[in-house]
Amino acid sequence: MAADYYELLGVQRDATQDEIKRAYRRRARELHPDTNPDDPEAEARFKEVTVAYETLSDPERRRRYDMFGPEGAAAAAAGDPFGFGGGLGDIFDAFFGSSGFGRGGGPAGPPRGTDLEVVAEVDFETAVFGGEQDITVRTAVACETCQATGAAPGTAATTCPDCGGTGQIRRVRQSILGQMVTAGSCTRCAGMGRVIEQPCPDCRGDGRVVRDKTYTVDIPAGVDTGSTLRLAGRGAAGIRGGGYGDLYVHIKVHSHQRFRREGYDLVHDLHVPMTVAALGAHLAFATLDGDEDLVIPRGTQSGRVFRLRGRGVPHVDGRGRGDLLVRVIVDIPTDLSSEEEDLLRQFAALRGEPVAPVDTGFFSRIRSAFK
Ligand code: ZN
Repeated sequence: MAADYYELLGVQRDATQDEIKRAYRRRARELHPDTNPDDPEAEARFKEVTVAYETLSDPERRRRYDMFGPEGAAAAAAGDPFGFGGGLGDIFDAFFGSSGFGRGGGPAGPPRGTDLEVVAEVDFETAVFGGEQDITVRTAVACETCQATGAAPGTAATTCPDCGGTGQIRRVRQSILGQMVTAGSCTRCAGMGRVIEQPCPDCRGDGRVVRDKTYTVDIPAGVDTGSTLRLAGRGAAGIRGGGYGDLYVHIKVHSHQRFRREGYDLVHDLHVPMTVAALGAHLAFATLDGDEDLVIPRGTQSGRVFRLRGRGVPHVDGRGRGDLLVRVIVDIPTDLSSEEEDLLRQFAALRGEPVAPVDTGFFSRIRSAFK
């Protein structure tokens, strides 16, 4: 995988445009070929940093980079507002040029398969610490019977007689402005340049069949609901050997019984009895990393937050972890025995606190009247 653009520039993922510009100036000065003569490594780094800056300094390309990685950002640059279909196909060809089905000028050929999307439900702890997860998608795969050619075994596709294999039909017509040449996709071969006389019986000439495929996906530590992973070449097969699209895995993280996420921090509401809040205690608190000593000091108020540093969620870029925030909620007992009530009344009397008199039935009569 290519280096992370933010890491290359040495900025945070939420860096402002100004910070990105300053970081690039600094890095470019360090790595500039003039400062590092005869250092091919510095020169390569200089180029990488420049590509990173060009992407992150353009808000739209940066947004796409955040969602889909470097190729997604490049697709935006190519002027494809959605980045799918043609845009990614072109990029795919540019990166893996040897697919043999170049666009415009090159020989005709079957188009690349479509991109697929799937939602992966991920355990809370897998999302926090990363891990592997199997996902199954219904997809198109190359037909084995015909080796994805679409032609019945023992036969082969032949060059389309209408377009001569170019996939394009040019029509010349006269107009008042002179000769007009229009080019369109060849209808006989659907622009693929080759026709099949005897289709494969298993795929009916498509060169691919529908299957459920299971992939083991590496879930990076720190992902959250809304994160999307792109698995290049794991999408649907194109017809007749047209290459595979990509698979986009949208992450949906299950909730946890004890913790909820706020960005990279974990939050837990810790209920403590009022005696513990008043007198203090040492508790063993179960974090996702195991038990930790948690000291509740004397006189802790409800709502107080204790921060266990570095016990939150790892940052998805691998740098640092969030914190675990333990918020204390003081529970007031509602089930006092008569002995406990006596002690509490003595306590209130010692402090001169104006508590309600012993319940003689008057308040409970009022309560029932309002039920
Ligand atoms: Zn077949």
